[in-house]
This record gives sequence, C-alpha cells and structure tokens, in this order.
Amino acid sequence: MLLAYHPEAVDALRTPSIEDPWRVMVSGCLAAWPCGVEGTDYGLGAVLRDLFALPTLRIVPFCPEQYGMGTPRTMPDLHGGDGFDVLAGRARVLDEHGHDLTDAMLLGARAMVDLARHARIELAVLTDASAACGSQVISDGCRLVPVRRHQKGVGVATAALLDAGVPVVAQRDHRTVARLRMRLDPTWRAPAGLLDHHEHPWTREHLPMPHPRVAR
Ligand code: SF4
Repeated sequence: MLLAYHPEAVDALRTPSIEDPWRVMVSGCLAAWPCGVEGTDYGLGAVLRDLFALPTLRIVPFCPEQYGMGTPRTMPDLHGGDGFDVLAGRARVLDEHGHDLTDAMLLGARAMVDLARHARIELAVLTDASAACGSQVISDGCRLVPVRRHQKGVGVATAALLDAGVPVVAQRDHRTVARLRMRLDPTWRAPAGLLDHHEHPWTREHLPMPHPRVAR
C-alpha cells in the first residue's frame, strides 16, 4: 500500500511508544549512508533527521542497490515499465552504458524484503525517483540524457516490499510524512499546506495520469 493514497491507513497504525517503537525500514541514503551511485547520501541524510530521532520510532536502514552492485556503481534505470513489471519479467533495469542490471536489482530487492521480514518492519520510508526505492515518480529510461523522461510508478525494491505487505511512503510525500510524525509525537503540529509528491505542481503538470499502483 502506498500510504500517500491511504491516509486512513496511517491513522490505523498501532500507537507507538518508547518501549515499543514503530519499526521502520528506510532507504540507506535517507539515514545518511554514503550509498548513492557515486558514494554520497545525495544530500538526503539530513532531510528526515528530526523524524528519525524520535524515540517512538526505530529505523532499519538498507540500500538494495549497494547490496546488489556495491558502491560506487553505474546508474540503474527502468526500461519498459516499473518495478512490478521487472518482478513480472516484462521490464528491465539498464545502466547508462546499456548493461543489464536486472538480476542485481532483484537480488537487492529480495534482500531488502528478507531484512524487513526478519526485523518485523511495519512501514518503509523510501527515496523517491530511484529505480530501486522510488514509489511515486521514477525515470522512464536512462536519466543521464539531455531530456530526462519520468513516469509514475515504483522501483524494484519498493515493488518487492509492497508485495510483501509493507506499506511505503516517499520522503517527498510531505503531507503523509507529517501525518506519520503526528502519530509518533502527538504534541507536534504539521505546518499548513504540505503536499504529497503526486500533489506537487510539477507532478500535476508533467505526470497528470493516475498512479498505476494506487490499488496496491
Ligand atoms: S538504492 Fe535506495 S537506498 Fe540505495 S542509494 Fe538508491 S535510493 Fe538510496
């Protein structure tokens, strides 16, 4: 389930406590791991630092691409569909040189699901636009081109987590992340006007079609 489309599911999560915090899987780069393709955290390590520091939440970071291919690595992107299409054998993951990275991406995705099951993960906060961790917007073909194309859909690891029953939210789903934070800290109040990624003006203008996986 993509939590940005199911606010009622956020409200239905159990009440977390310091003694029994939510167990939340997060993209390694959001936890400041230097696991991006060129060995940085893409500047994402600070984005949700306050949220991840709450005592009612315990994060379990993982990077499926690093697991499958190491760091540094070439740039994986989805060709012919999204992560669910890769799981079904209808789409592939290629790098900017045309090398097929599909098997390595599947290896990382399966390892992420194994860890999620072992750690009894309750939800996942993942980095959008990644061919592995994306959940709202992903590239449509190689991104290292003069005019990058995008599509709505999910990455390979996200698809595997959704198939395993793990709810997912993107770090760019600001409204839903704030809703989660209010469950983690009932004294906290969200600023007005927060938008999820599919509600952002850029997404509305460039990708007006419905998300193909909202039923998941
Ligand atoms: S695969 Fe996921 S965790 Fe790893 S660098 Fe990309 S977005 Fe971050």
